[in-house]
Amino acid sequence: MRIDLHTHSRVSDGTDTPTELVSEAARAGLDVVALTDHDTFDGVAEAEAAGERAGVRVVSGIEVSCSRGGQSVHLLAYGADPGDVALAAEMTRVRTGRTDRLTPVLQKLLELGVPVSEAEVMRFVGDSPSVGRPHIADALVAAGHVRDRTEAFDLFLADGGPAHVHRYAIDVARGIELVHGAGGIAVVAHPWGRGRRRVLPPEVLEELVQANHLDGFEVDHQDHDADTRAELRQLGGRLGVLMTGSSDYHGTGKKDHDLGCNTTDPAVFAELERRLRTSHSLG
Ligand code: AMP
Ligand code: ZN
Ligand code: FE
Ligand code: FE
Repeated sequence: MRIDLHTHSRVSDGTDTPTELVSEAARAGLDVVALTDHDTFDGVAEAEAAGERAGVRVVSGIEVSCSRGGQSVHLLAYGADPGDVALAAEMTRVRTGRTDRLTPVLQKLLELGVPVSEAEVMRFVGDSPSVGRPHIADALVAAGHVRDRTEAFDLFLADGGPAHVHRYAIDVARGIELVHGAGGIAVVAHPWGRGRRRVLPPEVLEELVQANHLDGFEVDHQDHDADTRAELRQLGGRLGVLMTGSSDYHGTGKKDHDLGCNTTDPAVFAELERRLRTSHSLG
């Protein structure tokens, strides 16, 4: 059984429609795929319908924009109720922060000599309710300022980069609480990817597990090298948490993140499902 628990459609900053993503998942030989768009459930119903046609099990998910000490942390939530009022209210607040960030980022890009218009960015945002930096990157590519999304991040948009602007994100402990309150399972995405090790050192991950009942974290992710994976696996084993593997697929928007390039152990997925059944029967 091949299981990929972290993917993005163009309902956030991927490039496939949810239907295309599920077709690609079938082609890639996946049995289970979770759609985890940034801060929105809007693609899940379409993905589930496509999954029924394609014979692929679709898991409802989101990747919640969280933070710790002002630094970005991504929290995956599985099986959370999209209608949960507290979670939905915070998601709305996060998406508003994404939209409001656009104008100051474009102002900085103008000052840096690489102007792009808001209309151009919105062409890439399309119907997505979740405006992301990759959409701004796409506009920079279209204007000929950079080669690809990666260069746009490296030169301008990365955390701490010259055109980076902070936006609202949920404290990660509160994020876990909201996900659990909505009947979901909470798994930290790429905990030690892209400099996050300083934000989430072992003692902080341990605290999130013990004090906040974090369910697990990603180990097999393209942003983790082999040594990082080995260290995380040892920590996760000691803490007794769910350790997942996934692609963080973004369609053509992210190289080296093909569907199924990392997968989750079926026994881990079975435990995740067992916890979901328990939380839903309690809720
Ligand atoms: P945002 O949601 O607007 O904060 O942007 C985060 C998204 O940008 C994530 O989905 C990442 O995949 C992507 N991203 C973040 N940092 C980089 C980077 N250095 N290079 C390419 N993509 C990145
Ligand atoms: Zn993304
Ligand atoms: Fe992420
Ligand atoms: Fe992601």
